Amino acid sequence: MPRIVVKFGGTSVADVARIERAADKVVREVKRGNQVAVVVSAMAGVTNQLVEYCHQIAPYQDAQEYDAVVSSGEQVTSGLMALALQKRGVKARSWQGWQVPIRCDNSHGRARIRDIGGEAMKESLSGGEVAVLAGFQGLSKTNRITTLGRGGSDTSAVALAAVLAADRCDIYTDVDGVYTTDPRVVPAARKLPMISYEEMLEMASMGAKVLQVRSVEMAMKRDVPVQVLSSFDDAIGSDMPGTLVTKEGNIMEKEIVSGITCQRNEAKVTLLNVQNKPGVAATVFAPLAAAKVNVDMIVQNVGHDGKTTDITFTVAKTDLQTTLSLLENSTDFECEAVLSNGSLARVSVVGIGMKSHAGVAKTMFETLGRHKINIHVIATSEIKISVLIDDSYAEEAIRALHEAYGLEKSNHDDKNNG
Ligand code: ASP
Ligand code: MG
Repeated sequence: MPRIVVKFGGTSVADVARIERAADKVVREVKRGNQVAVVVSAMAGVTNQLVEYCHQIAPYQDAQEYDAVVSSGEQVTSGLMALALQKRGVKARSWQGWQVPIRCDNSHGRARIRDIGGEAMKESLSGGEVAVLAGFQGLSKTNRITTLGRGGSDTSAVALAAVLAADRCDIYTDVDGVYTTDPRVVPAARKLPMISYEEMLEMASMGAKVLQVRSVEMAMKRDVPVQVLSSFDDAIGSDMPGTLVTKEGNIMEKEIVSGITCQRNEAKVTLLNVQNKPGVAATVFAPLAAAKVNVDMIVQNVGHDGKTTDITFTVAKTDLQTTLSLLENSTDFECEAVLSNGSLARVSVVGIGMKSHAGVAKTMFETLGRHKINIHVIATSEIKISVLIDDSYAEEAIRALHEAYGLEKSNHDDKNNG
C-alpha cells in the first residue's frame, strides 16, 4: 500500500472551513488506497501572535518557555484536523511531537531533529488510522518541548516521510508549484513540473520562499520526493499537479537554466587595502561570526604591489549597521577605509544543466550589459551564477534574463511541440 505524508501550511488551515477542505483532500487520498500521515502548521498568523505574546512579557525570554508557547498553535490544528477526519468517517488521531517522539537537540527555537521514534505511528497507520502530526514541534534531550525554527513544519513533514519510508511528501501551500521566477515580476513565468533537490536548495536559500531550506536539505539527504502544490486547487497530490522535487537522475529533460531568483535587501562592504598576510581574513570575519552576522559572497583581490588586498563581501541589509560598527571598532586588522552600499540585489540563474553546458555565464553577462546594468560582484557554484547589482535594476534584470534563457510559457511550449 502506498504511503504518503501530506503537509498543510498555515494558509491551508487558516480557519475551520479550510481545515475541513484540507480534510476532504486527505479523505480522497485514503479512498485512493493510500496510507496517509498528515502534518499541520498552526493557523496562519497564530505563531506570529504567540511570538509577540512572549516578547510582550520579556524581550529576551527563557527559550524553553518560548518553545512551550510558540509550539501550541500546531497542537490546536492537529486536534481539529483529526476531528474533521473523524467526522468524515475516517479513523484518525493527533500526535504531538513529544508523543511520537521527535527527538531533537537542545537548541531551543531552532532545534535539529536527531531521530524519530516512528514505531507507534507506523502501527497506527498499518491499522488504517490517519496519523495527524503537529508540525514544528520536537522534544529536547531533557524532555522539554522544542521547535524547529520558523517554517519548521516543512522539515517535520520531510523527516516523518523519511522515517515512515513514505513514497512521497506532498506540501500543500498557497502557491501551486515552483516557478521559473516570481510570476508577480514575470507574468509569463512557467511552473516547473520537476526540479532537482540541488536546484531547489539553491532557489530556497535564495529567496524562493516555498520550502524551509532545512526541509530541502533533509529531502536531499534522505531522498524523499517532495511535491509542492496548492491547497486551493481541486486536484489532490496523487494527481501530481504541482512541482516534484526529486533526485537529478529522475529528471529526463534537464533544463540548462531552471529558474531565476532574486534576493533584495543585500548590502556590500569593501575593506580597502587590508594588509596582505596570512590570517587577515580570519580576523575580519571572526567578530561577524561571533555576532551571528551571516556573510555571503566574499571576494578578495590582491593589490598590484602584493602588500595589500581589498576584501568585499555581502551581508543582509538588516545586518549592515552591526557589521560596520564591528569592523570599525576592531583593532585586529588595519585597512585604509571601509566602504558600503546598502541597496543592492542578488540575481541568480540556477540550473543543473549548467554542469554540462558552456556559455550560460556569457548569456547572463551579455544580457545585463545590453541593459546597461552594472555588476558589482559575481559568484558561482556548479549549478548557479549570481551577480550583485543595484536594487533599482532588479526587476528589469529578472525579466531580461528570463527572456534570454527562453523560460517563458509560450517559448517552452514551442520547444516541446517542435
Ligand atoms: N507555525 C510555524 C511557523 O509559523 C511553523 C510552520 O508553519 O512551518 O513558523
Ligand atoms: Mg511554510
